[in-house]
Order: sequence, then structure tokens, then C-alpha cells
Amino acid sequence: MARTAIRARLLDFISDPTHSASAVRLVEDGLLLISGGRIVARGEYGPLSRALRADEKVADFSGCLLMPGFIDAHTHFPQLDVIASPASGVLDWLTLHTYPAEARFADPAVCQEAARFFLDELSRNGTTSACVLGTVHAQSVDALFAEAHARDVRLVAGKCLMDRNCPRELRDTAEQGVQQSADLADRWHGKRRLAYAITPRFAASSTTRQLQLAGELASARRDLYVQSHLAESEDEVRWVRELYPQARSYLDVYDSVGLVRELSAYAHCIWLDSADRLRLAQARAVAAVCPSSNLFLGSGAFDFRLAEQAGMTVALGTDVGGGQSFSMLATMRAAHEVALMRGGMLRATQLFYWATRGAADALGWEGQVGTLESGAEADLVVLDPAATPLLARRFAAAGSIEEQLFALMILGDDRVVRETFVAGQPSKIWCKPEVVAVASSPGDTARTRELTRRFMGRLRDAPGGGVLKP
Ligand SMILES: [Zn+2]
Repeated sequence: MARTAIRARLLDFISDPTHSASAVRLVEDGLLLISGGRIVARGEYGPLSRALRADEKVADFSGCLLMPGFIDAHTHFPQLDVIASPASGVLDWLTLHTYPAEARFADPAVCQEAARFFLDELSRNGTTSACVLGTVHAQSVDALFAEAHARDVRLVAGKCLMDRNCPRELRDTAEQGVQQSADLADRWHGKRRLAYAITPRFAASSTTRQLQLAGELASARRDLYVQSHLAESEDEVRWVRELYPQARSYLDVYDSVGLVRELSAYAHCIWLDSADRLRLAQARAVAAVCPSSNLFLGSGAFDFRLAEQAGMTVALGTDVGGGQSFSMLATMRAAHEVALMRGGMLRATQLFYWATRGAADALGWEGQVGTLESGAEADLVVLDPAATPLLARRFAAAGSIEEQLFALMILGDDRVVRETFVAGQPSKIWCKPEVVAVASSPGDTARTRELTRRFMGRLRDAPGGGVLKP
């Protein structure tokens, strides 16, 4: 079977840097071998390159960092057209921008086009997996899964459950919404790398009855994910308190119906009390922190210190389109700013961990993605520290990997993403104009072959005896 060989600085995490000083694993001149969509070997370039066959080409990304692809723990694919739209807060954002944009997804053609653009944009930003909210329309999730399946992307997604406090055209009913969720799960969950998430939009847009039915589905199907929003802004928390006067807290609204458990991911988690934090930690639910969105909408600042003290599981989300960027580097930068507001300080290695292995382990993908270990799926990103003159200059002056990663997340964006590999396939090529015709043709095996042919063609045509100089 054909192998892809990549030479670069190899960076990944053995464990959580919070708890271990030796969690960061860096090979300065490394070689990674991929075959059948998986990593089959990794190590120092010198010794490992001697195992290469004479006809095997090496994609030479020397000087670039090769690391596990980023994982976006919370984002919305139907909000592409309203990113960068002003609003005074999240509730305003929903009514002014989000709901009108999402109403267009009643049209399957709109869903398909957006799904393609969204997945292209993930790749362009080095993101190889995401937890994604569709609209209330089942066809929005069908379109996203179909496109992700054709590209072999590891993706979690779900249709929004929303049966009150939203425009009539975006309303399902308690029974119909949950039935559609179960049907979508039957169609897509476990199909190669796809997983379904039961997705109540947020407590205020579901009736108690709908949340109860969602909880019953979550109990019957422990293998399904759960995703929603939790305690994003103070106005929202007040509203939920009025709607659910019997609940101890916003979290308790979900918890009382069985929606807080492993494989559940709650976006934001800002306005919590200590009992909520302990409960999330004990349930091993994931706090999908979305600092870029929180800054943009003025929602508040997540308290990383209290989260750590409580033992909460943290991952990072872009929350596009409330979030300002698809870039997980931009998300890390915002997390740094938000942490400072709360009097805390995060290390860059911690943030890169949360965006890769931390998220993978939190989402139940330990050993499968988020690591460069042999046997893992080859979801990878190549980051070029010389992508801009200022970054190159600052990077050269950095003395440690911590300092280098910090410069990368503060100064970097999609320009530093040299290539993104999804299941071993170079996927940034999807976004290039010359393969648009290929990308929109049916049949994933033909497309995969075409991508490989083009990638190998780039290797062959490169000067230096087939060695690709990025
Ligand atoms: Zn969101």
C-alpha cells in the first residue's frame, strides 16, 4: 500500500500539560509515515528515513510544525453568512441575525452549498474535527453529514431541537424534533467517522416536554453525543430562570432530564456556580469554551482557574458565527485574553493541548485522533512559522517551544496553515479552484484517488528529485 512520508518538526502531547512537565513531545527533525489513512511510523528523520523505499518521496516541510489537526468543540455551520454581524448580546444576535439566516436552510440546495463551504473552511484553518450544530431542519444535518462522509471527516453534528421562543418557521414539536433526531442518528451515527449529537439549541428554546424526550433518547442511546448551550450571558441566564423556576440552576434544567453525562458538550459555561462546576466535572461533561464569541457578543469571561479547581473537562470552540473566526489559533488567542480578565494566565502549550489531544480525549477519541502515535488516524495540520514576515521574525527570536507556540497563536491565522491532512489525505487542496469540479462530483473513492494523484503530482513536479518544498 502506498505510503505518504512527511518531514517536519513533530509536535504532540503525551498528556495534559497542567499535570505533567514532560507532556509536550517535540521531534525537531522528524519523519511521519502514513498509510491507509493512519500513522504507521514516527520518529527522527535520520534513522527512520533509512527505512524508506527508493521510490518513496518525502514531502519536505522542514521548519514547519506537524501536529494533530485542531478539534473545534462547538460551531454552527448555518451561520456562515452572519459571521461579523453586530449585535448587543447573544439574544439580540439570535433574533437579528441567526434565525433569519437559519430559515434559509429549509432549502436543501442552501444546506449543500453551505456544508461544502463550511468543510472547506475547516480544512483551510487546520481543523480536522468539529462538533457542529445544524438548523432545526433535518436536511441541514443530512447535507453536512453527506459532505463530511465523502471527505471522510471525523464529525459530530445534530439538528437543533427548538419548539418554542423562536420564529414559527424554525419550530419543530417536542415529539417530531426528537423523532427526527433519532432518525438522523439511525442514518448517520457510526457511519465511518460520523457521530450524532442530540442538540437542544438551548433551554429557552425548548419546552420541558421536548427536553424530557431528548433526555429519554440520551438515556436509551448512550453512544450518542449531546450538545447545547449553557450559561452564555447574564440576560439569558435570567430568562432561563424565569422559564424554569423549579430548577436549581441553568445546568439543572438539562441535568434533571438526563442530558448531562459523558459525551455531552456544553458551549460557554460562563455564568455557573461552584455546584454546577463540580457537577459538570463529576459527569465528565465537556465545557466547550468559546472565548472569541464571548468577546464579540460581550457575554462574559470563562473562568479557567475555577474550572481547573473543580476538575472540569475543557475544550475550545470557535462558535462561528458568534465567534469571529474559524481559526483555532484565533480562539486560543481569545482564550488567553479572557483568562487574563479573570486574573489567570494560560500557557500556550495548555491551549494547544485543549485544541488537539485534550478535545480528542474529552470526546471519546483517545488514541484515535489528537496524537501522532502510530496507529492513530492521520488527521494532521502543518503550521508554517514563516508564513508572515512578523511571525517569522518573532518565531526566530523565541527560545522555547512554549514561546514559539505563544507567538504562533497570537500572530497566526489561516495563513500559517500550510496543509491539512484528513485521514491521511491532503485536504486543503479541496479548496483550490482547480479541483472544484472534482470536489463536486459524486463518488468519494474517485475523488480520493484524484486527490492523491494531484498531491503526488505536486511531489513529482517539485524541483529537487521529487522532494516537495512547501
Ligand atoms: Zn453556539
